[in-house]
Amino acid sequence: MSGTIIDGKKNAIDLRRRIKSATNNLKSKYGITPGLAVVLVGNDPASEIYVRNKGIQTKEAGMESLEFRLAEDASEDNLLKKVEELNNDNSVNGILVQFPVPKHMSQQKIIETILPLKDVDGLHPVNAGYLASGLKGMVPCTPQGAALLIKETLGELSGLHAVVVGRSNLVGKPIAQLLLKENCTVTICHSRTKDLKETCLSADILVAAVGIPELIKEDWVKPGATVIDVGINRLDAPEKGPGKTKLVGDVDYNGAIKIASSITPVPGGVGPMTIACLLLNTLIATCAQNNIEFSELGF
Ligand code: NAD
Repeated sequence: MSGTIIDGKKNAIDLRRRIKSATNNLKSKYGITPGLAVVLVGNDPASEIYVRNKGIQTKEAGMESLEFRLAEDASEDNLLKKVEELNNDNSVNGILVQFPVPKHMSQQKIIETILPLKDVDGLHPVNAGYLASGLKGMVPCTPQGAALLIKETLGELSGLHAVVVGRSNLVGKPIAQLLLKENCTVTICHSRTKDLKETCLSADILVAAVGIPELIKEDWVKPGATVIDVGINRLDAPEKGPGKTKLVGDVDYNGAIKIASSITPVPGGVGPMTIACLLLNTLIATCAQNNIEFSELGF
């Protein structure tokens, strides 16, 4: 028997359609168009692709997309000034600085300069604190997308044992918080965890957010578990031709799908949900900044 494939692409399209409709409601009721500003430093090819896709999907959702580019050797001060400018610009509701930034810039300093209310990446310590306290705030996009897929797949999560492998501020910790909020019993594993395989085997929901290709093997998965693979690893794929590459997750997909009841593929699983959740955060931020109840938008 084979597990069900959780279709992140389809879920993301549905979510973006609902966001577009709510954005239209915001425009017609209040005459407000959400604005998302993305700042890119340098010209890392992968970041260029992410930023381009974000711009396209932002416009498709009926929002204003603003793009700002700084040279690779721009000073940190220059970038922080740009962020301050966007903080003070009323037409900008969400600010995202595309990471990674060049080594001479402090990622943490940048995160802390963005106004928490415009921090659509959800990385500001104020927003991390809200999430840890079970309060409303901006939730990081990829974990939010992963949690939406889990809810969509399983419905009620109360009492289930969720094992999250990875404890980064960007992915592992926020996913753990979101699952805790859903009344899961949550175990967080990391590079120093002993008995990783045994812990994974006890998971009803197994989330992998590590960055090691196919770390989680078929015999680490409990029969009937839901497996969420956040990992994105680019590997050489000589079988596809010279110089070709392929994406794989942190889970041995072909093995795990035989054991799991449902599983996200890579690509096409959690990945597509990230930009959709960025747009959702932009809409939520716009409402919060204008004292509008989000529920009024019929989302
Ligand atoms: P990170 O490097 O910041 O964190 C990795 C975590 O894995 C750490 O907490 C570390 O303790 C843990 N770890 C490392 N080796 C381990 C081991 N052998 N056993 C158990 N745990 C181990 O990475 P991140 O930013 O959290 O990203 C994780 C993965 O998710 C990466 O593959 C990344 O590309 C992917 N990612 C995807 C999206 C998306 O879908 N849009 C977004 C962000 C990250």
